[in-house]
Amino acid sequence: MARVTRTVIVRSVKLPRKVFRVFVELEGMYRNMVEQLVLYAVMNNIKSFTRLKALKYREMRSIYPHLPSHYVYTACQDAATRAKSFLRLKKLGLAERELPEVRRVSIWLDDHLWKPNGLTSIRVATHKGWITVELEPHRQYWRYINRGWRLASEAKIKLDRRNRRLIVYLTFTGEVEEYRPRGYLSVDVNENNVTILVDGSAYLFETNIEKLVLGYYYRRKSLQERYDKLYGVKSRIKRKAMRKLKERKKKQDTRWKIANIIVRLAYEKRYAIVLEQLGKRPATNMLRRIRDRQLRHRIYQAAFKAMQQAIEEKAREYGVPVVYVDPWNTSRLCPVHRAPILYSNGSRIGRCSVGGELWHRDVAATWNLLFKALRGDGSSAPNPVGYIVDGSPVPLGSTATHDPTRVPKPVWARWKSLEATLNKPKITGMTL
Ligand SMILES: [Zn+2]
Repeated sequence: MARVTRTVIVRSVKLPRKVFRVFVELEGMYRNMVEQLVLYAVMNNIKSFTRLKALKYREMRSIYPHLPSHYVYTACQDAATRAKSFLRLKKLGLAERELPEVRRVSIWLDDHLWKPNGLTSIRVATHKGWITVELEPHRQYWRYINRGWRLASEAKIKLDRRNRRLIVYLTFTGEVEEYRPRGYLSVDVNENNVTILVDGSAYLFETNIEKLVLGYYYRRKSLQERYDKLYGVKSRIKRKAMRKLKERKKKQDTRWKIANIIVRLAYEKRYAIVLEQLGKRPATNMLRRIRDRQLRHRIYQAAFKAMQQAIEEKAREYGVPVVYVDPWNTSRLCPVHRAPILYSNGSRIGRCSVGGELWHRDVAATWNLLFKALRGDGSSAPNPVGYIVDGSPVPLGSTATHDPTRVPKPVWARWKSLEATLNKPKITGMTL
């Protein structure tokens, strides 16, 4: 049983001017407290919330006596967190300035400062008493509610001044139990695609991490150089541009979509997901263009790791077990004959040196991952009939080995489920 926590962002309805003004005032007071507390904490090298509270509670209470007292608690927590990260950056020589600056504020709430009010509204304690705020729940919100997840006692609110709404950050926690897997779905992450093998069929999701990662890297670098020349290394305008670039990158982050497709598919079939054990992976073609070898390696590792992490995190949420296997030789050996596959220069399709059959290297990898998982597993997952006998596979009679079903990005990006994506009849469970 694992406890899983997820933050869900819900917007309120548009608030009446009078009500919104109360929140603007509240935010002002809260910000003021946090600013003072962060400065004090940094100057006195305080990183602990309890210590900060012990030293400053009385003073803060006396500045805003009409504010519910727990705002002092949460402001101290907020400030201690900020001070801690600032002091860490400073120690590393990475702090941009001498003293921290409180730019964006979200108001931290604890269980004395807010309460759910039914399922579609909340109540927030303010200096003008309790205020009821209607929410606009979305599908994701209802999904957690319907699965019986509980709301945590902490929440945060941010003000959306332009639309006169609150943006509410709610935290759900749920107990998720991993099921006993009935089979395996193996996943091979590459620089240009993510390939999965399920019930003997391979699907290749075209991703182009290469373009994403390198594109971002070069854009960032050129932007940095341009602004450094124009405005100096520490300019505010550069920071702003970099932040924008980063936000855009986040939006384009399609990893979550793929992770979703894979995990939901495994969940429906009650399969475990097989992933490569992360480790030393040679940087491949895509990155040879970057001269700095270490940097190249780092970028690739990061992209690769992020994809795996997205899958792991989604899997935890659904209780999908994840199995790790040694990645050694997964695309170099024929899964059937365990003999080298010969690839002629640069080709992704090779020929088995013993059986002579053709293999797409990413498909071969997924089969090898599957077999490694099956060999390493003496337990609950029964052997899928048809392609394996006590760990030594029987030859595969299909073209699927060198011809995976390609799922182009425009297709999976609009994804509902794998079946819907491919517009195929439902993939039926394998015979056990
Ligand atoms: Zn072979």
